[in-house]
Amino acid sequence: MRKVKKVLKEEDEIYEIYCNMCGKPIEKDSFGNFLEYLSVDKKWGYFSILDGQEHSFDICDSCYKDIVSKFKIKILDDEKE
Ligand SMILES: [Zn+2]
Repeated sequence: MRKVKKVLKEEDEIYEIYCNMCGKPIEKDSFGNFLEYLSVDKKWGYFSILDGQEHSFDICDSCYKDIVSKFKIKILDDEKE
């Protein structure tokens, strides 16, 4: 048998996100959900020149498009042959 009681737990809530590249805030929809963006969390491992470093950043869709447009191998639908 389990007895249950209500408890309040403190938890982190993301209330603002900024694009690391342009510095603009990621907008929210009318329900308070963030619009699309890219979030990266990377811990570099052995044999990398960044071994042991941990990087975390967020990129808005506009800056994402700028970044990937510089790829030699294209990934955007409107850039593919
Ligand atoms: Zn941006």
